[in-house]
Amino acid sequence: MAKTYKTASRAYKTVARSMNTRVTPQSQKVPGKDQVMNNAGGAVFQISKWDYLMRFLILGSEGGTYYVGEQKLTRENAKNAESCIREDGKKVVDMVVEVSDAGRAPKNDPAIFVLAMAAGLGNEEVRKYALDNLHKVCRIGTHLFHFADYVQEFRGWGHGLRRAIGRWYTERPTDKLAMQLVKYQGRDGWTHRDLLRLAHPHVTDEKKNFALRWAVKGSEGFPYSLAPDVIDPLATIWAFEQVKKETDEKTIVNLVTKYGLPLEAIPTEKQTKSVLAAAIENLGITALIRNLGRYSKEGILTASSDETRFVVSKLLDSDLLKRGRVHPISVLTALMTYKSGHGMRGSSTWDVVSKLVDALDEAFYLSFGVVEPTGKRILLGLDVSGSMTSSFIGNLNMSARAASSAMAMVTARVEKNYDIIGFTGQGRGTFHSTSTRTGWGGGNAVSQLDISPRRRLDDIMEYTEGLPFGSTDCALPMLYASANGLKFDAFIIYTDYETWCGDIHPFQALKQYRDKTGINARLIVVGMTATEFSIADPSDKGMMDVVGFDTAAPNVISSFIRGEF
Ligand code: CA
Repeated sequence: MAKTYKTASRAYKTVARSMNTRVTPQSQKVPGKDQVMNNAGGAVFQISKWDYLMRFLILGSEGGTYYVGEQKLTRENAKNAESCIREDGKKVVDMVVEVSDAGRAPKNDPAIFVLAMAAGLGNEEVRKYALDNLHKVCRIGTHLFHFADYVQEFRGWGHGLRRAIGRWYTERPTDKLAMQLVKYQGRDGWTHRDLLRLAHPHVTDEKKNFALRWAVKGSEGFPYSLAPDVIDPLATIWAFEQVKKETDEKTIVNLVTKYGLPLEAIPTEKQTKSVLAAAIENLGITALIRNLGRYSKEGILTASSDETRFVVSKLLDSDLLKRGRVHPISVLTALMTYKSGHGMRGSSTWDVVSKLVDALDEAFYLSFGVVEPTGKRILLGLDVSGSMTSSFIGNLNMSARAASSAMAMVTARVEKNYDIIGFTGQGRGTFHSTSTRTGWGGGNAVSQLDISPRRRLDDIMEYTEGLPFGSTDCALPMLYASANGLKFDAFIIYTDYETWCGDIHPFQALKQYRDKTGINARLIVVGMTATEFSIADPSDKGMMDVVGFDTAAPNVISSFIRGEF
């Protein structure tokens, strides 16, 4: 009798728990909330299609995530972008232009891809609007080649498209056009010759016509001589042709210096040490950052060379970084590669100059622009679970969790009152706490991380990558603060949203924390992968999602914490 009663009681208890809207296991949907299941079997919220599109534009889908392969993730994002284009294609184009032009994303490819979609799948007005904005998104030849490659999958080479491509050439000043033609000659099987043959732009300006003829016909179409000491818009092309023929190193150096030739205009076999040294001033900031290893290997960037001083001054020039749309992820990648002392393929090695590593470390922060401090008490919580180690940012050799530790430093650097923890689930966690606060969570789910912006980023990322990991419970930062009586005005969680193993949903844990402490704490979730999931309750104005590695994110986080929206 007693046994039956007990069993019935347990059944009631189980059902009652499943109807509880305050404490729900993450494997179950919360009653009354519109939730979906994530890829790890946890119930989470779904963001709007527009927020989903923004995640794609910033993070891209290359490399996929721990749970979803690259093809599938790309297909899902493309389907979503198409749905946005059908709903409001002009809004899509405006978002694309905004993200691309402000340099908010590590890579321009998602923006080019979505622009190509709009130019093909939109209605007539949208297609025209997309093509009218081509030059704002495809700023260099390489972008244009990518666009050409994508767009033909969505439409034919009709009149509108040909005209838009033609305008890309005709509407820039001749000297700038000449530089584009010399610098970016082809990509993905496309060349300027291919595009110009399709577009057939009509040009009245004689010099511009000459430049385009050269792009189509090569040097035979360029029987050209320069009048001495006259500024000629075709000088770059002329000098490029001279360098191709020239064998004398000194003459090449003079041509490179006098005509400002970039590396791309110099045949590889002629890029000797003195030629490279002469060309360093002609490199854009992006090319400079990408070629640090190369210049070091040649013995040009040494501990006390003038060239090293020159590069350091460029890396610390925040206006230059902004104008060149240098993305923090590019700086971080360059830092990790340069610091390693050898190239990706390992065949070339160089002596690492600390001054340059330090300058890259600084440039990372500068490339986010000025971040306003909040002065509030903040807990930065890094999801250091297994899935975060095999989701990659922009297909670069950098895991989401290493990248998120660097991202967290941007906030940590300007704030005085912050704590930083790493968390994994308690389930099958192999996480060994280094926390001094013991006796909670079995001591194996949360640990205070020994990192701060005073440590260099390469050091921080190596430290984070070395942490053991387990399953995922994004409620832990709030539970940890609550159990330890810690006061925070805001929680910032860096995750891939694949949380599943906790006994309570993160948004419920935040509500409990608010009730217990009387602090109306806010939650910001920084998403590191382009999925459609969220752990922030959209009906709660104190919770917000931002996209990881959006250069605009640190200031959005800061103004949200200050309560500005
Ligand atoms: Ca995980």
